[in-house]
Amino acid sequence: MAKFIFVTGGVVSSLGKGLTCASIGMLLEHRGLSVRLQKFDPYINVNPGLLSPAQHGEVYVLDDGSTTDLDLGHYERFTNTKLTWYSSWTTGQIYQRVFEKENRGEYQGATIQVIPHITDEIKHCIKRLASSDIDVVITEIGGTVGDIESLPHMEAIRQFALDVGKENCLYIHLTLIPFLKAAKELKTKPTQYSVGQLRQIGIQPDILICRTEVSLSQEERMKIGLFCNIATDAVIEEKDKDFSIYEVPLSLTENKLDQIIVDKLHITKAAPLDLTDWRELTRKLRNPQHEITVAVVGEFAGYRDAYKSTYEALEHAGVQCNTRIRILWKPSREVLLPDTKYELNKVNAIVVSGSFGESEIDGKIESVRIARENNIPFLGIGLGMQAAIIEFARNVMCLENANSTEYDKDSANPVISLLDERRTYIRDGGTLKIGADTTVFKVGSKIYDAYDKNQLAYERFRHRYEFNNQYREQLERSEMQITAMSPDSLLVQGVELLNHDWFVGVQYHPEFKSQPTKPHPLFLALVNAAIKMSSKNKN
Ligand code: GLN
Repeated sequence: MAKFIFVTGGVVSSLGKGLTCASIGMLLEHRGLSVRLQKFDPYINVNPGLLSPAQHGEVYVLDDGSTTDLDLGHYERFTNTKLTWYSSWTTGQIYQRVFEKENRGEYQGATIQVIPHITDEIKHCIKRLASSDIDVVITEIGGTVGDIESLPHMEAIRQFALDVGKENCLYIHLTLIPFLKAAKELKTKPTQYSVGQLRQIGIQPDILICRTEVSLSQEERMKIGLFCNIATDAVIEEKDKDFSIYEVPLSLTENKLDQIIVDKLHITKAAPLDLTDWRELTRKLRNPQHEITVAVVGEFAGYRDAYKSTYEALEHAGVQCNTRIRILWKPSREVLLPDTKYELNKVNAIVVSGSFGESEIDGKIESVRIARENNIPFLGIGLGMQAAIIEFARNVMCLENANSTEYDKDSANPVISLLDERRTYIRDGGTLKIGADTTVFKVGSKIYDAYDKNQLAYERFRHRYEFNNQYREQLERSEMQITAMSPDSLLVQGVELLNHDWFVGVQYHPEFKSQPTKPHPLFLALVNAAIKMSSKNKN
């Protein structure tokens, strides 16, 4: 039977619960266990795909088309667990399930209440992940203990131990131990209150993970343990990592977290920990031999986390190439300013990101022009690929006012237009292609080479517009080649330039499929091209 780990957070938000859960998952996988991860978000939204990246960071897309919180990106980067619709729940989605059941008459006229109906639904969504092949289910409860919105979740996980037995459940609480510079002291009181609140709900944490700027002494751990009713060795320090998030699991295992989990849950089949690959990764991260600058252009470039997966994917490729990647974040609208144009001319590579609904397309088109005319390695993602086609149509094919109908409904040359309804299904009130699908590469192309001469890949899409096939013949006669397509050859999924060292645009989102020890082929090829270019420029 699967064991269950519940991770809650206290004192303040943004403590990095997602990273901690991902790190726990990674450590347990490296002990030969099979894990599943999931997150409950306390907000009421039913569709996280509609949340603004400026508020919540990027919308992360899973293979099955679920649009989720960016923490699920950490889960997929740190572990090999399979994430599905059941891995991500908002409060709104839980209520929606309950309303649907009511409509189907499943409650037989009973009064619907938070306890038991909402809590039962939450427990059901946790149990669904515990299939017979799974050793541990890790459930992250979003928000902070004490939030009104989190209460039903806390109640549900409290009840969970009654249902499956306390010996099969582990409660981990992530908290902050602030360091007061004036007093030169670590303060444990907020943590005591936070654990106190959990205990009022009926949850006694088994393990406390303490985020801290400075190391905790043995006395401090004893004191925290005493006040919070937790054994000293289960008070684990998680010191701030100013260098790389990939060092988090290493410090957690130094503090024996995985062993404590395995012992407390009596998991006898756990193998000894082998972190050879991960240690090699962090060693390479710390010892780069080159440095390159990559510009990432997007509307939300000013917001931390809005392009989280792109940032990570570049770093993964950089590690593989022993290269430190310096990112120049450029909000699309700024590209039109003369100073920024000059700056972009000097970078080693340009990535133009995807986007939904925002209208800063002109800055993206200008970034494409700079990359194309100056032979700067270029990767266009989603809208980035569409911008590459529009730029080429306007400036090389001389198609006047070429545009996407997303930005100009009456464009004289709509080279990008709404997806053909027959090939998509309805989501978000419109036609949207979302989730993973097969893409077929043209043999001999740069994309095909990047994928190690594989002709097929399974990549994640999220778009409503596509290349307009009426312009296909014209494009195929030009220097912009169509080199990735849907298996039925109807949907253009990738283009590249013949007379350029490395210029690729893809309709899908490669950033969602990159892992630190397995960088995505397109990011790897981009970084390699950038390194080549930068050494050529130096000589
Ligand atoms: N907004 C564009 C579309 O819907 C591009 C989306 C994206 O970047 N993935 O087609």
